[in-house]
Amino acid sequence: MSVYPSDRLEYRQGYQREYKARFRAKHGMSSSAAQRKANSVTAAKHRETEKRRYVAYGRRNRMQLRDEVFEAYGGFVCACCGESGRHFLSLDHIFNNGAEEKRRGFRGGATLHRRLKQQGFPKGYQVLCYNCNCGKRVNGGICPHIEVLDEGDWQ
Ligand SMILES: [Zn+2]
Ligand SMILES: [Zn+2]
Repeated sequence: MSVYPSDRLEYRQGYQREYKARFRAKHGMSSSAAQRKANSVTAAKHRETEKRRYVAYGRRNRMQLRDEVFEAYGGFVCACCGESGRHFLSLDHIFNNGAEEKRRGFRGGATLHRRLKQQGFPKGYQVLCYNCNCGKRVNGGICPHIEVLDEGDWQ
């Protein structure tokens, strides 16, 4: 049911016809085509914004999780040398079972952080800087800051 009286309807249809003709002359396409085009551009922009928001949200979440995990394992300071630059720090498997856990399908980073939180931050991890982490690995499980075990071929 139209809200327009029939005489008005005829007037309205006439006006619309004129409007459409004017629009087509000016824009080289029908108003509905222009509308569709504008919609798809708007939709693409919207998707882009949403994607960026989603990515930013994920990053914020991961950083928050990382903070939580590091706090639980003694804060942003290397357990060996005291390095406190957070970009130098990583989580270390105290018992050197990192390789084994990787084989079993556990991954580092956000995946590990999530798992540790889920498990209530189990023992067996510590915060180490990359130097100490790496030094420990090539020195047979103990950071050379503490004791040099392997004087062999250092790369
Ligand atoms: Zn260190
Ligand atoms: Zn060290």
